[in-house]
Amino acid sequence: MNRKQKKMLIRIVIAAVLLAAVKLFKIGGWAGTALYAASYITIGYDILRKAFRGIINHQVFDENFLMAVATVGAIALAIYEKTGDFAEAVSVMLFYQIGELFQSYAVGKSRRNIAALMDIRPDYANIERDGRLEQVDPDQIPAGSVIVVQPGEKVPIDGQVIEGASSLDTAALTGESQPRDVKDGDDIISGCINLTGVLKVRTTKAFGESTVSKILELMENSSSHKSRSENFISRFARAYTPAVCCSALALAILPPVINLMMGMPGGWEIWVYRALTFLVISCPCALVISIPLSFFAGLGGAGKEGVLIKGSNYLEALSQTSIVVFDKTGTLTRGVFEVSGIHHNTIPEEKLIELAALAECASSHPISKSLQRAYGREIERDRVTGIQEISGSGVIARVDGAEVAAGNGKLMKRLGVDYMDCHSSGTIIHIAIDGKYAGHVVISDVEKPTSRAAIAELKKIGVKKTVMLTGDMGRVAEHMAKKLGVDQYRSDLLPADKVAEVEKLLAETGRKGKLAFVGDGINDAPVLSRADIGIAMGAMGSDAAIEAADIVLMDDDPMKISKAIKISRKCIGIVYQNIAFALGVKALCLILGALGIANMWAAIFADVGVMVLAVLNAIRALYVHKL
Ligand code: ADP
Ligand code: MG
Repeated sequence: MNRKQKKMLIRIVIAAVLLAAVKLFKIGGWAGTALYAASYITIGYDILRKAFRGIINHQVFDENFLMAVATVGAIALAIYEKTGDFAEAVSVMLFYQIGELFQSYAVGKSRRNIAALMDIRPDYANIERDGRLEQVDPDQIPAGSVIVVQPGEKVPIDGQVIEGASSLDTAALTGESQPRDVKDGDDIISGCINLTGVLKVRTTKAFGESTVSKILELMENSSSHKSRSENFISRFARAYTPAVCCSALALAILPPVINLMMGMPGGWEIWVYRALTFLVISCPCALVISIPLSFFAGLGGAGKEGVLIKGSNYLEALSQTSIVVFDKTGTLTRGVFEVSGIHHNTIPEEKLIELAALAECASSHPISKSLQRAYGREIERDRVTGIQEISGSGVIARVDGAEVAAGNGKLMKRLGVDYMDCHSSGTIIHIAIDGKYAGHVVISDVEKPTSRAAIAELKKIGVKKTVMLTGDMGRVAEHMAKKLGVDQYRSDLLPADKVAEVEKLLAETGRKGKLAFVGDGINDAPVLSRADIGIAMGAMGSDAAIEAADIVLMDDDPMKISKAIKISRKCIGIVYQNIAFALGVKALCLILGALGIANMWAAIFADVGVMVLAVLNAIRALYVHKL
């Protein structure tokens, strides 16, 4: 509890004790009235003040106003009827404040929970100067610097390990509790915690471009993407409170006036009391609080699982997913190709790989990375000029003065080079030197260990269709599609064709469901933004992917897709439960209140009770890991 909450608790206790004293010892007369007044002021002064300010600022209709009018009205009525019993007004205020306290505690708790999950912001980075470590603001460190990460410290900036070995705790990023081992040569991302060894890391990005900064930015902006349910609630509350106040006024005035006109006694006290009860019942707190809180908790719960969702609107869309479209390379497959053959080469194999690797030196495509790995030596970038990457086809560059083209059949056709087809299964990289065919390299990729299970799981939870899109050849695509059990595949697609395919699928789904596209952002960022929900494999994917996507999976595991859908459904389920429950109880109480069956006591119990239950229900969204 924070100080404000403690203060409120003390006020509640004092007011409750005073109230109990009057009631228990049946203190009457002036002494009783004074105690009631003390109790009422203690518990309600801030509400009265806020209501008064609201009136002055012409923002009348809020719950403070409702509470102030209802309780002051009840007091006035008691004075008028000379009962000397103000317990009702005091208790209404008391219960209202208990509810508020509970709610602020719950909200604070889930905020802290999320803050803890997202406690990945590094405070400093160590750099070595004259043999001593110096702590520097990570913002000050340019890409390409060498930093030192000691055991127990957070990795502050994305980079590559150049010395040392250790295991990393990635739980805050991926939800994965198993530590991940790294050694020199491995890429590491910021936000992990270094567990065992000292690591020297050469940073590959500036702090602002690093994973941590991206994630924090994403989390901070997520609240600005409101879901339809949330927008509905805020519009609802804006119209609702004035409507309720007008109804209450009508309830207080119309029946007595009608009675009088018909020559009967007016019964003002009864109807004014019913109108006041009506006001208390109508307080919309449960809805106004629990809906955003449910979404908030849902985003937090997903974050804990390594699924970063950029806003509650995407959470809502995700729950309606009916088609999931996958990119192949890097999404369903590991994107780590091994060279499995070199055929029809007119120059020695090593030379062919060398030229290909050099030509690929600027590409971030998994194929390029794999060729560079196969080459295995330091890339001398100054040997390469005039690099051109043709997205979805390959690269053309000048290496040692010769024009080297490496890519698929489409690239060869484009250059007018005759190429040899290959019958081995695998992705074929044709290479042409100075416009002459120089052979091809067969590389093959393997599926991720969980891909097949992930697709089966999607089916199981009711996703209607799974589709794989790829720029690779038909044969490779077919083989992979069969192996993984996807319903459909489309091959030989250029990045623009992928967008067109997704548009076709979007037209097919119509408004019945949502289309989610999962990719790594390499050659597919436009598709990520075109789909209803763009899901990026974040840890491996490019910055472009994190920008373009609506949802980022921190650890490239396709199983996380069905998990994310389940989380979203659970969260939306909770939202609907709360809407139905709160509105239902409200409607019932309003009718009972208007009919005079429910009194103000019942009203405040219903209001606070519904709110507490709705908030508790909302908090459940935070604990989604058991799904
Ligand atoms: P996917 O749809 O499987 O993710 P891409 O659209 O990224 O594949 O690429 C499609 C095809 O284009 C690859 O299978 C490859 O043949 C060729 N290609 C793309 N980029 C490169 C590159 N940098 N080097 C060589 N070939 C490439
Ligand atoms: Mg791709």
